[in-house]
Amino acid sequence: MGLQVTEAVEWMKRINEKIHINKEYLTSLDQPIGDGDHGINMARGFQEVSNKITMENYENVADLLKDVAMTLMSKVGGASGPLFGTAFLKMSLVAKGSDTINHDNITRMLEEAVNGVKQRGKAVEGEKTLIDVWSPMVEYFKRVDRFKAGEIAGEAKKAMENTKDIMATKGRAAYFKEKSIGHIDPGAATSFYMFEALSEVIKA
Ligand code: ADP
Ligand code: MG
Ligand code: MG
Repeated sequence: MGLQVTEAVEWMKRINEKIHINKEYLTSLDQPIGDGDHGINMARGFQEVSNKITMENYENVADLLKDVAMTLMSKVGGASGPLFGTAFLKMSLVAKGSDTINHDNITRMLEEAVNGVKQRGKAVEGEKTLIDVWSPMVEYFKRVDRFKAGEIAGEAKKAMENTKDIMATKGRAAYFKEKSIGHIDPGAATSFYMFEALSEVIKA
């Protein structure tokens, strides 16, 4: 049940696959409201993550997530590296000491991830960033006693699509002011792939 090392490794591999398949798309989202490198940044980062975790033999989810965090922080240029890095580092800290990650663990891991990203990037909900996917996911896990895999992806997709209507007030997209409205936030799209991948590996 939940997430063990095998599932967590598979989670990262699937994120890597999805980001590679959608690399051009993610970059195209970053063109009108950024500098057009988001797909490149994330593909490079998750390729490094995949390489790193394939070489190691993890005893627990916390150690795996820590390596993911460190790799993203050191290999991804751009705002997204340190921010996603922080998210995975916070998840690792909460996961420490638990061999199996159950519903409660996941909820607390995601909650701390959001807090960490908020602190690091000085952003809150409603500013058109990856927070606008991660925060609704925390709410989802808090709301349900038992998640349904398909629902995780559905909730994340809705949240990602909602970033279209928001005017950006943080990150590069904030320079575009009103012109940022009508575009999906690139970091929110990457976050959707992360949760879609989670929904494919997590056991209810
Ligand atoms: P850069 O903007 O440095 O080129 P990326 O293009 O890789 O970096 O990532 C941009 C994404 O980072 C945005 O779409 C947004 O989701 C996220 N982001 C940027 N600034 C912040 C922030 N202060 N807080 C949270 N997320 C942010
Ligand atoms: Mg960019
Ligand atoms: Mg950049």
